[in-house]
Order: sequence, then structure tokens, then C-alpha cells
Amino acid sequence: ATTSSYVGRFAPSPTGPLHAGSLVAALASWLDARAHQGRWLVRIEDIDPPRCMPGADRLILQQLDACGLVPDDAPVWQSARGALYERALQRLLERQLAYPCACTRRDIELAWEQMGLARERHIERPYPGTCRCGLQGRPARAWRFATEKAARRQQPFAGLGAPQWDPADGRLLWHDRRLGAQSQDLAQSVGDFVLRRADGLWAYQLAVVVDDGDQQVSHVVRGEDLTDNTPRQMLLQQALGLPTPAYLHTPLVRRADGEKLSKQHGARSIDVSTPAASRAALDAAAAALDLPVADCTHKNRADALALWVAAWRANYNHAL
Ligand code: GLU
Repeated sequence: ATTSSYVGRFAPSPTGPLHAGSLVAALASWLDARAHQGRWLVRIEDIDPPRCMPGADRLILQQLDACGLVPDDAPVWQSARGALYERALQRLLERQLAYPCACTRRDIELAWEQMGLARERHIERPYPGTCRCGLQGRPARAWRFATEKAARRQQPFAGLGAPQWDPADGRLLWHDRRLGAQSQDLAQSVGDFVLRRADGLWAYQLAVVVDDGDQQVSHVVRGEDLTDNTPRQMLLQQALGLPTPAYLHTPLVRRADGEKLSKQHGARSIDVSTPAASRAALDAAAAALDLPVADCTHKNRADALALWVAAWRANYNHAL
């Protein structure tokens, strides 16, 4: 039974089974929900079929289950929610906060060159804005969010994690429950980002915002690699009339060479073949979150999880 309006979620992309890093985000979001006596949901973010591994969704759910992390509602799959994303895109088009874009990668590079900006492989520059005022008869390929326009309006935000505009320089100021004060110049560093890609697929930014809104997620707890996506998600929430949840980004698990542990880098699946193995995976995730070691007085998993919920509450509940 829940006594609060807290809704948290774990939102894995099924590009492979859970690895040590993704289990950290799963455990942290679960602990935060339990610490707030809230609900915890699992959402499978399978909007990019070429990147998905067949069967990884079921595997992830089994691995979570083996670790005692059981969602309070049936999981949802983003691949079945296209109609919601379509409706949100229409709403943004009506509000003139989205527009179709005909540019290919090459067109964008040419526009930068004309602006005197040399092509540099490693620098991801904001979209130059070519299609902002219409397609000039070219066919639409993708749809973009009018970031610069939305940022210029400086409308106020709603919700627990509502950020603020810095009146001096227009940066978005927001608060992360673990990392503290954050800020980003959206127009400069992000620009008009893609909502629907040229290949017809929905962009992560739109899907995640629509789903967090639709599922009434009040608290987002996820890996630190996503921190700098947060301001653009906040701006999208505002454009769609959705409240901004509170955010907490968890530490990343690094490989011995300092690289982030990720499926792309071939991170190994966590082993849940025996109760002892899944417990060892949980203990490692708890250690990565700086939670106390569950010693011989916490032999059973429920006792260990209860110990961590209490420690989590002491660390983070004062901050929302
Ligand atoms: N699906 C994203 C990932 O696995 C996480 C999205 C989120 O938590 O906002 O990286």
C-alpha cells in the first residue's frame, strides 16, 4: 500500500541484459521509491529497434525480479506508445514549438561552413536553424523542437523539480538531489533538437518526457550520464504543460580504465543464476551508491534492502 503521490521509475533500453551499471540505477530508483513509500514502475525504452536485443526486455525483468526489485504495476513498452508521442508532437506543432526539418547531415555541415565554422568531428554544434522559417519546398525529413524560441520566452515551470531562468544570462538553473546546483545554456549548447528522426523513429527526449508525464512520475532517479539531457527534458515538459519531476542522478560505475560501463563497451551481464550470485550483484550496486555494507546480520535479502532503504532515506529524503 502506498501513502504518497510519489511515482518513480526505472527505464532501461533493452539493448542487452542488465549490467553492474544499470543495476545501480535500478536499485537507486527502487530505494528512493521505497524510502518515500511510493510506487516504482518499470518502463522498457525500446523505441530504437535497431539498437534493441531481442529478448533483452524479458531478461531485464527476470534479473530485476531475481534481485527483489519488483515493479508495483505492469511494465510498459515504449514501442506500443507511438500514438502518445504523435499526439505530443501535434500539440507542439500547434503551439509553434516544433517544426519540420528537411536538412541532411551534409546540409547542416554546409550551413556551419557558411557561418565560418569549420567541420570538427568531435563537436556537436546546435542545429543552425535553416528550416525554422519553412522548408522552401524541400520534403520534411525530421521534426525538431524550437529550443531557442522556447528558451527566449522564459516561461515559468511547474512541479517538484521546477527549474528557473537566470535573469542575467538566460541559463536554465536546476537542482539535482545528489549533484546540487546545475545550469545549462540550452540555446548555445543544445539548440533545436530532434523529436522525430528522419528514419521515422521517435527521439528519446520526446518519448521519455511524454511517458514520465503520462505515468505521473514525480521523481526521476537515473544514471549520471543522462544529467545533461535534463534541461532539454524540462523545457519539453513545460512546452507540453507537464510538471517537472525531481531529479537525482546516480554515480556511474567505471571500468578499471575509467571508461563508463556500458552495453556498447561490452559490459558483462549481471549474474542472477543463484540467489547468492544475485545478492552479490546487489551488494556491489549498494557499494557503488555508498550504502552501508550488509553484514552477517543482514543475511537475508529483505533485511539488506531494508538497511539500504533506511540509509537512503537518511541521505536523500531531506532533499525532496
Ligand atoms: N532508457 C535510458 C537508458 O537506458 C534511460 C532513460 C531515463 O532514465 O531517463 O539509458
